[in-house]
Amino acid sequence: DHKAKIIDGKAIAQTIRSEIASEVSHLSQKYGKVSLSFLSLGGLWHGCACARLIRCSYIIWKSCSTMVPGLAVVIVGTRKDSQSYVSMKRKACAEVGITSFDVDLPEQVSEAELIDKVHELNANPDVHGILVQLPLPKHINEEKVLSEISIEKDVDGFHPLNIGKLAMKGREPLFLPCTPKGCLELLSRSGISTKGKKAVVVGRSNIVGLPVSLLLLKADATVTVVHSHTHNPESIIREADIIIAAAGQAMMIKGSWIKPGAAVIDVGTNAVDDPSKKTGYRLVGDVHFAEASKVAGYITPVPGGVGPMTVAMLLKNTLEGAKRVIEK
Ligand code: NDP
Repeated sequence: DHKAKIIDGKAIAQTIRSEIASEVSHLSQKYGKVSLSFLSLGGLWHGCACARLIRCSYIIWKSCSTMVPGLAVVIVGTRKDSQSYVSMKRKACAEVGITSFDVDLPEQVSEAELIDKVHELNANPDVHGILVQLPLPKHINEEKVLSEISIEKDVDGFHPLNIGKLAMKGREPLFLPCTPKGCLELLSRSGISTKGKKAVVVGRSNIVGLPVSLLLLKADATVTVVHSHTHNPESIIREADIIIAAAGQAMMIKGSWIKPGAAVIDVGTNAVDDPSKKTGYRLVGDVHFAEASKVAGYITPVPGGVGPMTVAMLLKNTLEGAKRVIEK
């Protein structure tokens, strides 16, 4: 009886989080020391002139205040699902030593007020990443708000400039979108190479399907994108060495659609009725897990696959953003 190797996203995300935590502490130690030696030099150079020393210490204190990576998480309104995602992200920051700047705005906030807030965060040197939790209320234009985020702080990687650079050969985006980056990280940390492989991405949304297909292309895979108008998707999916499922269709991909030995990354997170659960539902992926794990070489579970990686990549992007600023 064949059983696919389970790619344990939860465990891999935990490893990444500890790597981030140690880098964050290393960063503050390294730059803390530089600042201290700077302080003593400053003292000598200024002949201990008190006022100057105080001024110098203030400048150093200012630079010290940017030693710790900072992430601003902005939420508008009181949607339960958004609130739980936001609190998860804020908690994850605290765990690895990233400062989280909490911005909670009421449902009725105007688009102009929200954009003012984004500008304020753009200008705050202690903030290295800005995340605006989606969806926003209907009266606010999401696209307009997202494109106001400085591309240097666009840790979600949704700014059109970052996506555009991702699509172009020889250009490097400042940030990669978190879920797609998490999918590639799951592959590489499981020893699955993408070079020259046939990859099929199911879904073409701006946040998952499209960027993950661009990332696979950058990683030298031969990529096909399947969407809701694709004829006979199963015959295309059956060709794939790597399948990334991001259609939001519960258990759409059956075991018989999968090439033996393929690597299956299931992004789909769908709630289906389950009277045996206290909540009345359970989460399933876009892949029929029980069938697929009898055929595939590797598979991610839902939950516990891609989900935890998304948050880990958000932390990683924030750290990378902070390093770029600090090392400059
Ligand atoms: P969208 O609804 O924005 O996009 C779905 C995509 O799938 C569309 O491109 C659509 O095609 C395509 N699609 C829909 N039905 C079919 C079908 N029957 N056959 C082939 N393609 C189809 O969803 P998202 O990209 O935002 O999310 C996808 C899934 O991933 C969801 O279940 C979501 O919950 C989950 N998700 C999980 C995350 C995580 O961290 N684990 C993060 C983000 C999302 P078309 O363009 O033609 O409409």
